[in-house]
Amino acid sequence: METKLGFCTKLKDVLVDVTVEADLSGMMYYIPDESPENKAIRTVKAIGDFEDFLRDHRSQDLVQLSIVKQTMNMCSNCKEVWDTYEEDGHDYCGYCGFEVQVKEAKRD
Ligand SMILES: [Zn+2]
Repeated sequence: METKLGFCTKLKDVLVDVTVEADLSGMMYYIPDESPENKAIRTVKAIGDFEDFLRDHRSQDLVQLSIVKQTMNMCSNCKEVWDTYEEDGHDYCGYCGFEVQVKEAKRD
């Protein structure tokens, strides 16, 4: 019979990364029927203006920042992405092989 390595549990929604998105539309004037390419070029310019804004603090333009959080479910033992397999009626971590101690309640 195979020797068990140990037990692990599912760590839910662990924060693993944070990025910031900036909506620069408040810094850009509206051009009717503008092509996507031209708008993209102007957006790149606006990014440069935004960086200048951060540097000198003189601009009064509206800037909105959105924090984008990335979370994932992970194994309590190996800290890898939660991915299990079943064998002989038991669940095991697909990375470290530890047996899953508590099964997550099913959501409907
Ligand atoms: Zn694991």
